[in-house]
Amino acid sequence: MSLQIYNTMARAKEVFVPQEPGKVKMYVCGPTVYGYMHIGNARPVIVFDMVRNYLEALGNEVSYLTNFTDVDDKMIRKAEEMNITVAEVAEMFIAAYQEDLIGLGVKPATMNPRVTESMDKIIEFIKELEEKGYAYENGGDVYYRTGKFADYGKLSRQNLEELRFGIRVEVDSRKENQEDFVLWKAAKPGEVHWASPWGEGRPGWHIECSAMVREYLGKTIDIHGGGEDLKFPHHECECAQTEALTGAPLSNYWMHNAFLNIGDEKMSKSLGNGLLVKDIRARFKAGTIRYFMLSSHYRNQLNFTEEALLSAEKSAERIALAESNVKHRLELNPEGTGEAASSAVAERLTAILSNFHARMQDDFNTPDAITAVFDWVSLANQTLAKTDASSADFAALLNTFAEMNAVLRLTPELEAEVASEEVERLIAERAEARKNKNWSRSDEIRDELNSLGILLEDTPQGMRWRRK
Ligand SMILES: [Zn+2]
Repeated sequence: MSLQIYNTMARAKEVFVPQEPGKVKMYVCGPTVYGYMHIGNARPVIVFDMVRNYLEALGNEVSYLTNFTDVDDKMIRKAEEMNITVAEVAEMFIAAYQEDLIGLGVKPATMNPRVTESMDKIIEFIKELEEKGYAYENGGDVYYRTGKFADYGKLSRQNLEELRFGIRVEVDSRKENQEDFVLWKAAKPGEVHWASPWGEGRPGWHIECSAMVREYLGKTIDIHGGGEDLKFPHHECECAQTEALTGAPLSNYWMHNAFLNIGDEKMSKSLGNGLLVKDIRARFKAGTIRYFMLSSHYRNQLNFTEEALLSAEKSAERIALAESNVKHRLELNPEGTGEAASSAVAERLTAILSNFHARMQDDFNTPDAITAVFDWVSLANQTLAKTDASSADFAALLNTFAEMNAVLRLTPELEAEVASEEVERLIAERAEARKNKNWSRSDEIRDELNSLGILLEDTPQGMRWRRK
């Protein structure tokens, strides 16, 4: 078996071969942090988390970068509106974004470079483009000269003629050609700005991704991902910038997820029109939201409705319940887990797993891979119903589930329960601190537990804890 990925650049599925065996360099365009995450943006976040998890499951070490756009027009407007600085807006919404990621069961990226922290790299990139004749300055703004890059339009398969037709309405006299795009914007008086060879200003949006990829991942990456709305102009511009400079492809594979069609009337009534992840995860578990997002292929459009979420909740709970019941049986009788599972169970597990991988290798066909998870649920329930099932059977069941769930992460809440050991350890340490009258350490641990969402209660039987 080999992994096939639909490559937008080739308009076809291709066998995935990373540049360096066992190592994958992956970049996914991140958010502009001027507001809370919208459910539409949760789709790429969950899809590319799944892609990364699967690449890791195949034994790859994945460098997964996603940026934070922490300065742009929208950020500046938001800061004015809230009467705080752009940096404060960024801090606030980056923190909120990271909380949302946890609420969606998404693993943190290996790196989250920010525009404001990469300014010298961005300026350097534009300078090099200018030196090569791909950029020109006009009144403190710098533009990319699309006419000089012969391949402009190759990703979105548009030619300059079509593009010119599309944007003929607004004529910007500062540009040599109307399809040229901004690399550097001169600052208006009072706006946040950085010094540059072209005067005070700030970067355009497209250039940041090219500069960050080159700085943190190198000339060519293996996978570049994002929503299909980014294909043009954003990704087209990223290609033009990087490839003009390096002469090499920016990415060997381009992946784009389809839109999430938002809501129905019921959904809007219950959640308001904002449809923010923070409100949705207050009502639905991470496993439910992930189940919903992954129950459709990432290249198909998906309708986000109340009914679809409620149905996802039922299915995700059937999976979580089977996992939790198998775990429980193992806890009751841990003896003999090291022995071989019965051949009937072992054979079916092998078949389930091979089906799961076959589906995943076909361009991450998660809806069919979830069918394999349900085959596992059936087998788990049949085995649970048998009084003579061995611990080895349950251990084998759990291993197979863990392998599939490391990719889909349909029960991240149960994973949180595993963290109970860490809670118990902290409580024991706190008891020890109190015995030694080390009140400051005791308070420190209480605060730490509090930040983990753990409430402590002193009872006559000793310390009890529960999740908030
Ligand atoms: Zn980007």
